[in-house]
Amino acid sequence: MKNIITSLSLLVLLANCPIVQAQSGKTQIDPTKFNNPIIKDQYTGDPAALVYKDKVYLYAGHDEAPKDFHFYKMNEWVVYSSSDMKKWESHPVPLKASDFTWAKGDAWASQVIERNGKFYWYVTVEHGSVHGKAIGIAVSDSPTGPFKDALGKALITNDMTKFTDISWDDIDPTVYIDTDGQAYLFWGNTACHYAKLKENMIELDGPIHHIKELPHFTEAPWIHKHKDWYYLSYAYEFPEKIAYAMSKSITGPWEFKGIMNEIAGNSNTNHQSIIDFKGQSYFIYHNGASIPDGGSFRRSVCVDKLYYNKDGTMKRVVMTSEGIQ
Ligand code: CA
Repeated sequence: MKNIITSLSLLVLLANCPIVQAQSGKTQIDPTKFNNPIIKDQYTGDPAALVYKDKVYLYAGHDEAPKDFHFYKMNEWVVYSSSDMKKWESHPVPLKASDFTWAKGDAWASQVIERNGKFYWYVTVEHGSVHGKAIGIAVSDSPTGPFKDALGKALITNDMTKFTDISWDDIDPTVYIDTDGQAYLFWGNTACHYAKLKENMIELDGPIHHIKELPHFTEAPWIHKHKDWYYLSYAYEFPEKIAYAMSKSITGPWEFKGIMNEIAGNSNTNHQSIIDFKGQSYFIYHNGASIPDGGSFRRSVCVDKLYYNKDGTMKRVVMTSEGIQ
């Protein structure tokens, strides 16, 4: 009788287990379990993930637009953490646009990077006195903050770049520290820019360059490296798909490789973050489809797995409701 009860208990346990191991040993997706979006308690957009030690820290802008408000209403950034890409822990708000006294709002896209035990957060905001968007830097001793303004002024203002006439071309920073220790900042809308950063991470180290090899570049550059290739992915056209280029050097030349992600559901923007974590590659993005009343200004962050081909190119992303299981 005891064995029967144990067997029954095991069957019940298996029936409730979201992951069913097939006979082949390959993990199968439970079609009744929807893990996307990963953030369900509020609207979030412009994800940027940081792998640090044995966790992933997910930074995003908080979409606060009411249902009848048809533009971005973003005053603060948020952070979540995970050890397995499935369960996400929320943390107190670590940074607000108002923490930059020289800015007048708009907590747009950002990215955090660690160097020598400090966490540097590169953010887009609207500048208070120089017309247009600007890039600021916050710093903390912890990946979950609190963060404070690292510079007391903007690192990049609109008047520093003239590759296009628009006032919102200096947005969407992405940072990368190359294997030789040199740090780079990439950013842009319409024009894609990059510059070296000094080791202190809060000053430019040389001129600002313009990358011309990215067809239909809209915004949202993201730099990552996988094996011996550098990848520069970006939002392509509008509404946005994600395309990418590859190079053997972080300074290019870049070779365009095509679209890697289609238009995300019910959102005119499409903002990617690409990481490797515990042996698996992930594509993190937002859409406007996944929770009630979502849309282009009420977005939600999602995660799906990313795979590479043998020649280093990336396979097309399959956006799913099931997400990571
Ligand atoms: Ca500019």
